[in-house]
Amino acid sequence: MPTLFEKIIAGEIPADIVHRDERCIAFRDIRPRAPTHILIVPNKVIPTANDIADEDEALVGHLFTVARELARREGIAANGYRLIINCNQHGGQEVYHLHLHLIGGQPLGPMICP
Ligand code: AMP
Repeated sequence: MPTLFEKIIAGEIPADIVHRDERCIAFRDIRPRAPTHILIVPNKVIPTANDIADEDEALVGHLFTVARELARREGIAANGYRLIINCNQHGGQEVYHLHLHLIGGQPLGPMICP
């Protein structure tokens, strides 16, 4: 079964796309937790962080350079932001297609709520 994000990559489900290249797509989260909340998603299906292969190192690095560029474009680079990858149940992962959350635009508080 293709995940929701595979359907967005294939153009079968609409999304507010802010970046696309041959290796990844980035779109605004449908339930933003802050003024900027963008998901950066590799085109390659990698279900979780546990499934990142050695050969994916450059791809994963690319997600971070795209995040850096989007943070600059969104005007949140100087004040700062948070990059999050949730993994599996304890990590709170909802969609099993690796993605990097870029969240910012306001003070984000502690990393983990007590
Ligand atoms: P995670 O919990 O790390 O798997 O994050 C999944 C994220 O996908 C959540 O923040 C959701 O709000 C977001 N999401 C779910 N459906 C959509 C959609 N159709 N378009 C954009 N973001 C979505």
